Amino acid sequence: MQKLDGNVAAGILRDVFAFEMTTAEGTCDHCGAQHQVGELSVYMHGMGMVVRCPDCATMLMRIARIQDQYWLDMRGISVLRIKSAQ
Ligand SMILES: [Zn+2]
Repeated sequence: MQKLDGNVAAGILRDVFAFEMTTAEGTCDHCGAQHQVGELSVYMHGMGMVVRCPDCATMLMRIARIQDQYWLDMRGISVLRIKSAQ
């Protein structure tokens, strides 16, 4: 897998969430670190991506696109704070 930063996750997350996601802040369920999505470590693979905590490498999200559906596993994030448009 190719490691990139969280900014590459913006496109797929924009399809799933109707908000700006690179500035959304997630809390790692393992170590408690808080990072904006754009700061996370992203590993791309054929069906999607694995997003890891840059501090402890815990898997925060797995995102796959299979045909016309997104599969989103966010069990590594205890809290995701998203700024509203207003
Ligand atoms: Zn962590």
